[in-house]
Amino acid sequence: MLTAPLPIRVNIRKAVTRSARYAGALGAEQIPQFKDLLVPEAPTIDVVVEFGENDEGQQYAAVEMQGRVVLECQRCLKPVVCEVQGNSRLGIVPGDEQAKQLSAGLEPLIAIDEVDLWAVAEEELALALPVVAYHPDGECEPPKSDRRERSESEETGSTGQEAENPFSVLSSLLDSDGTKEK
Ligand SMILES: [Zn+2]
Repeated sequence: MLTAPLPIRVNIRKAVTRSARYAGALGAEQIPQFKDLLVPEAPTIDVVVEFGENDEGQQYAAVEMQGRVVLECQRCLKPVVCEVQGNSRLGIVPGDEQAKQLSAGLEPLIAIDEVDLWAVAEEELALALPVVAYHPDGECEPPKSDRRERSESEETGSTGQEAENPFSVLSSLLDSDGTKEK
């Protein structure tokens, strides 16, 4: 697990020229939008950003992230810890026009002079999050509705409720009359 926080701003030209590599931890400060998803016992996500230039002279930032987040299980609605993994190559361009020229496999990252690594990481995490989360099979907590149904069926067996039903009282009277006549 990485402990040093990721730097916030990076000069694009310098980073590309040096093929700079930044590794750091994303915590509540770096990704405020997702701070509630961080696992309390290990509240950081590792991220590595590498700058470079491809054969076509396009500047890029390769972003890799790995960590764990807490999501809501879609079966039992209880918290479930999920692995997140992100891996993308962002082509750094000054505007939409240049974004259209990017090679296949490069997603546009519109930036001039500087890149805000925290903002990039937050966006990449949003893309890396699973759309739906579930506990592994058989590990969900039983939903509350199950327990309620069980106690209701136990109650229907009681005699108190049957006596309240006028028809059941009537039918038992008719039955006993019939046996007397025979
Ligand atoms: Zn569950």
